[in-house]
Amino acid sequence: MRDWKQGGLYASVLAAAFVLAMAASWSEPGALADGNAYDWMFRLLRPSSPAPQTAVLAIDEETLQTGGGVRRMRTILAAALERLRAAEPRAVAVDLVLADPGEEEEDQRLEDALRSSARAVLACDLLPQGGAWEDPLPRFRRAAVGTGHVHAEPDPVSREVLLHKVAGRDRRWALALETYRAAHGVPWIEETPHELRAGPLTIPAGNRQDRALLIRYRPPEDPIPVVSAAALQRDPKQRELLRGKVVFVGVTAISAAKDRLQTPYSGRAQVAGVEINASVYETLAHGLFLKPAPGGVALALSLTVVVLTGVSFWWFSGWTAYVLGAAVLLAAHALPLALFSASQVLSFTMPVFSAWLSAGAAAGFQYFVVRRGLLRAEGERQRYQQAMHFVVHEMRTPLTAIQGSSELMGRYPNLPEEKRKQIAALINNESKRMGRMIRVFLDVERLGAGQMELKREVFEAYPLMETCVERARALAERKRIRVELEPFAGPQVSGDRELMEYAFYNLLTNAVKYSPADTEVRVYARRQGESLRISVRDQGMGMDAREVKEIFRRFYRTKRAEESGEAGTGIGLSIVQQIVTQHGGTIEVESSPGQGSCFTLVIPACREAGAPA
Ligand code: ADP
Repeated sequence: MRDWKQGGLYASVLAAAFVLAMAASWSEPGALADGNAYDWMFRLLRPSSPAPQTAVLAIDEETLQTGGGVRRMRTILAAALERLRAAEPRAVAVDLVLADPGEEEEDQRLEDALRSSARAVLACDLLPQGGAWEDPLPRFRRAAVGTGHVHAEPDPVSREVLLHKVAGRDRRWALALETYRAAHGVPWIEETPHELRAGPLTIPAGNRQDRALLIRYRPPEDPIPVVSAAALQRDPKQRELLRGKVVFVGVTAISAAKDRLQTPYSGRAQVAGVEINASVYETLAHGLFLKPAPGGVALALSLTVVVLTGVSFWWFSGWTAYVLGAAVLLAAHALPLALFSASQVLSFTMPVFSAWLSAGAAAGFQYFVVRRGLLRAEGERQRYQQAMHFVVHEMRTPLTAIQGSSELMGRYPNLPEEKRKQIAALINNESKRMGRMIRVFLDVERLGAGQMELKREVFEAYPLMETCVERARALAERKRIRVELEPFAGPQVSGDRELMEYAFYNLLTNAVKYSPADTEVRVYARRQGESLRISVRDQGMGMDAREVKEIFRRFYRTKRAEESGEAGTGIGLSIVQQIVTQHGGTIEVESSPGQGSCFTLVIPACREAGAPA
């Protein structure tokens, strides 16, 4: 599989595999697979996480039950904040949207609790129609130090947070970021196209996609501590779990929390929004950022994977190719993992799909090429067998003659002198003929295999033509065919005289063989530019265009020739063509059925006497 055409086809097959892999990876199932692969890598490659800086104060089922249910939420929240104060939290994030006015007494108590909390940050959310924020009541906002959004895109699995969200003309930072700012006393967040800066913290969240940031959840074995508000009431010692922490207060009760989502760790189970927001804070606080690799990187790596697979199957075959292909495949799987462990997130499906599809395409291509090669080899073998068959057949005639004659001589030692001479001459002629046949056949085989150099002698074309015509004349006369040779003072040619003679003589005998009696064969030569054209024109059975295309194939014989009983082995012309090609020439054939044929040898002529062209 080494020629250009095949190379082009191979490259196109691989290019198609690459395009298909990209399309598959960008499709919806591809995105889903990428998400699953991300979660899997997330669970597999857990960095050691420092002690948590946050804790969740949970309004859980028990808290709601003992506190009077959802209707008493403001009171429950106020009581929890009041108790929390003794734990001296670093900051408090309230993951509840306090947008509607409640009972005055309740609201007042909550306002007071917020005011006396250390650095309280409130939540706002996008209104269901979008376009505007559902903000906390002004009285609560005044009591707090900031407001952050808790909007999450409606993905089933929460993998990233939008640090920055705009509704109408109003934009908000995410609750966790706003809480971080409050906890660290950072006056404002600086923005650059590729990062956000909150005091000394640089967050790799570019300004595309609402400054999305991948959340580094804490592993389940070392989670963010969660303290139930009811338990805190029952057991004041619980407050030690909250001491000095940034406390996220929110609803975790399954019956009341709307904002529950899956996380890479949770599997099908869902996690309360308040815990997700605390996880965002942890991500920021520990600077454990996962950065999506630039889109171009995945594309370039996938392309490399395709090229490597392609090269493996192009240069190698069999097991070596498969082993190399498998190595590339393995690398394509390992690459996203290796990058992930270096906190770079690469599309999993892009290199992996590219590797699988290109390996399939390359292996398939190779398989078919190998199969074609096998078929071709099988064809050659069959042809070779046929060749042997024909050679044996051809040899049999002279051999039988020799055998018969020699037996005759043995059996009748007193044969008349005349007869003995005749038989001896026959044996001599037939063995010479056999010798010639073998020599030409072997020479041409060796020439074709590149094992033999062509003899380079300079000789006159015309005398060679004359000799051959004289030899063929005897054959022609039996069919009363006239052979006309136009006189010609031709140029010299350079090459192997014996092979050239074989080629020309073959055309002559064909012309005689495939012509009916009482016709004419014309032989003439013309000089045309640097070439010499030697033509043999007959008035014989001719061939159609399809047959003319085939006659140089070994063992091919036309139906017409076979029916005439004149057809030989079908090797002659293939040998003629090889000889002429080796001399840097070509053969032209004009023919039509019943109208005769004209075979022309076009060979390079010498420029001047004695000098090779
Ligand atoms: P062979 O003559 O031994 O069969 P060749 O290779 O010389 O083998 O020729 C192949 C076939 O081409 C012949 O069998 C015949 O069908 C056809 N052919 C060759 N020369 C002529 C011709 N001058 N006129 C018609 N058919 C020809």
